[in-house]
Amino acid sequence: MLKRIKHLEKIALGLEPTSEHRADLLESVVKYSEDFLDRIYELPAFVTTSDKGKGLLDSPISENGIDINSIIKLIEQNVDRPGLNPASGGHLGYIPGGGIYYSALGDYLADITNRYAGIFFASPGAVHMEHMLLDWMAEIVGYPKGSGGNLTSGGSIANLIGIVAARDAKGLKAKDFDKSVIYMTSQVHHSVDKAIRIAGLKECVIHYVPMDKKYRMNADELEKMIVSDMKAGLNPFLIIASAGTTDTGAVDPLESIGDIAKQNNLWFHVDGAYGAFFVLCEEGKKILKGMELSDSLVMDPHKGLFLPYGSGAVLVKDKQKLFDSFWYQANYMQDAAKGSDELSPADISPELTKHFRGLRLWLPLKLVGIAPFRAAIEEKLLLARYFYKQIQQVDGFEVGPYPDLSVVTYRYIPKSGDANEFNERLIKEVQNDGRVFISSTMLDRKFTLRLAVLSFRTHLKTIDLLLDILNEKIKLIGKR
Ligand SMILES: *Cc1c(COP(=O)(O)O)cnc(C)c1O
Repeated sequence: MLKRIKHLEKIALGLEPTSEHRADLLESVVKYSEDFLDRIYELPAFVTTSDKGKGLLDSPISENGIDINSIIKLIEQNVDRPGLNPASGGHLGYIPGGGIYYSALGDYLADITNRYAGIFFASPGAVHMEHMLLDWMAEIVGYPKGSGGNLTSGGSIANLIGIVAARDAKGLKAKDFDKSVIYMTSQVHHSVDKAIRIAGLKECVIHYVPMDKKYRMNADELEKMIVSDMKAGLNPFLIIASAGTTDTGAVDPLESIGDIAKQNNLWFHVDGAYGAFFVLCEEGKKILKGMELSDSLVMDPHKGLFLPYGSGAVLVKDKQKLFDSFWYQANYMQDAAKGSDELSPADISPELTKHFRGLRLWLPLKLVGIAPFRAAIEEKLLLARYFYKQIQQVDGFEVGPYPDLSVVTYRYIPKSGDANEFNERLIKEVQNDGRVFISSTMLDRKFTLRLAVLSFRTHLKTIDLLLDILNEKIKLIGKR
């Protein structure tokens, strides 16, 4: 047996590179990433290929490894080339963010030391860091002390946590579901629908509140619905509002909704995955007023703080409610349960072991401070307004509502022919060109183009480039 153990040890040492080997690996990886970053303002935002990265499959996972440079080639050809380039400032579709460099350094350190961020006993420092970041978010959105939260992988899990906390805080049991009512608009993000289902609340009554012309919840209608549902013997318990919808960037009237929630004793959940960090600038703060009245709030650092993917957050005003939904007990965790003067992320979220994701946010904030984030978010807001104005100077374009935040909807109306068809062709042309990437949506059965400005690398010249490209492609389609 000893011989076998020694033999296995030798092979297992393949998991522990020597310092020379580490230096080699690092050199190759740094060279590739430096090259990528040096060219990032020239790289296309979207690449259409016929192979769609299939070359990756020609190199199967096997018993023996291959060298780092061949691996980097595989990534470069098959992963980092085809499709959308979310690191590009030309990414103006869906909800971009960019992925700031400093976070990569945080991830690197977090992975090297592998601190156990889920449990205070195991890593008091990592847990303090997470809570410090959440306290900072609570402060900027106007939540009081005593609120709690969790750094999640994204807004979807954050919405799930908020909705589960609401369900339990209102004491809902399965037998109550079919009489209990959730209020939201048809513009909520699909992750909210998904979270409702995962939380077992699909059998609740879901009342879609009518919207105004800007796709915002109509608060008067909401109030009427709640009153009439109560009269009918139903149990209204949850309002879900959006602080920036994904489709049009609309911000629901949060202040009025907050008052209605309070008066009628409903849980008020705000999905600010896209929009909440606009609170960092004065203009955004005004638009988001009332967000602080919510009981739970979702905000995505991988959107509004431009972090690489994998960073969401949920805040819950009454920390105890989070604990009541997500506490756990396990015999093998008894050492960890004692000696904690701080709640652990594992006590207040679905995860036990978690990525030390605090470091990818804390490091950049410490290194450059809040100021550049504040400036960048205001810049995005103003760029959207700039585009809104400029696109109306181009003959034939029709715009949606004035942007609440940084999403603009617009479409081209051709002199003859079907407008939907034309805009579909237009977006195809823009995507095939690839210098910028825009996405589209259906609004009132109209094929509508969207501009979403939220990459930290999107600047004035990116928006001017989009305007040029749109002009160019319209002429091109007209000639055919
Ligand atoms: C992006 C988004 C989500 C989902 O967040 P993920 O981080 O993608 O999981 C939820 N709500 C809104 C409004 C969003 O824009």
